[in-house]
Amino acid sequence: MNLKKSLAKLKLRMDSLDRQKLLFATLSGIAAGFVLFLSILGIQQIAKSTTQAPALAAKLTPPVLVEPAKKYGFILDSFQITEASIKPNEFLSDILTKHEVPYARIDALVRKTQAVFDVRNLRAGKDYTIFKGHNSKTPDFFVYEPSVYRYIVFDLRDTMDAYVIEKEIVTKIRTASGVIESSLWNTMTDNGLSMELTAKMEDAFAWSIDFHHIQKNDRFKLIFEQEYIDDKPVGVGAIQAAYFQNFDQEYYAIAYENDKYNGFYDLEARPMKKAFLKSPVKYSRISSRFNLRRFHPVLRRTKAHLGTDYAAPRGTPIFAVADGVVTKASRTRGNGNFVKIKHDDTYQTQYLHMNRHGKGIRPGVHVKQGEVIGYVGSTGLATGPHVCFRFWKNGRQVNHLRENLPPPEPMAESEVPKFNLVRDSLKTSLDLIEFPNKQLMVMEINSSIRDSILLNP
Ligand SMILES: [Zn+2]
Repeated sequence: MNLKKSLAKLKLRMDSLDRQKLLFATLSGIAAGFVLFLSILGIQQIAKSTTQAPALAAKLTPPVLVEPAKKYGFILDSFQITEASIKPNEFLSDILTKHEVPYARIDALVRKTQAVFDVRNLRAGKDYTIFKGHNSKTPDFFVYEPSVYRYIVFDLRDTMDAYVIEKEIVTKIRTASGVIESSLWNTMTDNGLSMELTAKMEDAFAWSIDFHHIQKNDRFKLIFEQEYIDDKPVGVGAIQAAYFQNFDQEYYAIAYENDKYNGFYDLEARPMKKAFLKSPVKYSRISSRFNLRRFHPVLRRTKAHLGTDYAAPRGTPIFAVADGVVTKASRTRGNGNFVKIKHDDTYQTQYLHMNRHGKGIRPGVHVKQGEVIGYVGSTGLATGPHVCFRFWKNGRQVNHLRENLPPPEPMAESEVPKFNLVRDSLKTSLDLIEFPNKQLMVMEINSSIRDSILLNP
């Protein structure tokens, strides 16, 4: 049946851990009222102190054998452990000779393991651990951790070897919500949500919300994948669904992916992605608007300002707002370094005062929407770092913020029922997320709902 098929498709998108939860979310879409009841339970559980949790856990979980403490898979009790970080200008040989490994052996190890990991790439500040067996004269293993995602084990015993171990990433679905106090940036970071998540939410809404115009009391909700290694959050995966209320306008972005589609769609199955980005720089503010009678700060006289200025730190990437062909990438006294792009027979855009052009950006080059074409600077007639963004329609300069730009290609009719299934489950989950009273909080509603079901069979 159709529903079954769609569910199967839906499940394919997820890794094994998320599957149960999304399937669960889908079921919750079907039984919204039931879940609402449960989620209220769940939220209350979060609000309550956690003193209850151990008691419940004791009731539910059978006794477990105590696992010996391990690090990198080695049983800690079996070794003498040295933990430290690489110091500036410290080499592997410096470290190992201190532990009485003969230089000839270090040299042989380095040569033998070069293809696996070149020890010249040890970086100051990164952690390492030395394991020495209680009966060993010299260390048995040297483990280097270049990132949270992997570590390299150097086996210093007789044959000597090295191997890279990728750590297991566990992905959990998390939800977040917030009310804007000052800026989106502050609201997110003040409350422990990463810059990465902020950027991903901006990406989801980049075509519909002008993040320069968000204001106090705007609100958002997110369902996203959080990656964990050893129970520590290490990164944000995909955003599955997002909601943003900008003044009195509500926006939903639903992630939908299969072999033909990949992106965010609104509730009516229309792509969120438009032909034009709202602005050519992220995390900036509009410092001067399109204005036919502006007093020019450098020239000190009234002169039409035929663009929109976005102030951003020097070096901030500038994006092409739409696919097109570069027609100019040069420098003039007034414009400084600038790029002009022809998008089609109707539209052209221009970006002024760049610190420098993007790599390979020159006339005739095709650029994609979102591609970096330059970096914010203050070359030409500019008082500070900003990009002056200019927009032509049929050869005339217009205020792009006032334009009704062409709509995107719609989703095929035949796809819409499948999309609607995904949409319904995600929207139900989004709508269940509550807004914090004042401050943003992150809640793992999903797991709480699951716990509630376990408790209430
Ligand atoms: Zn300007």
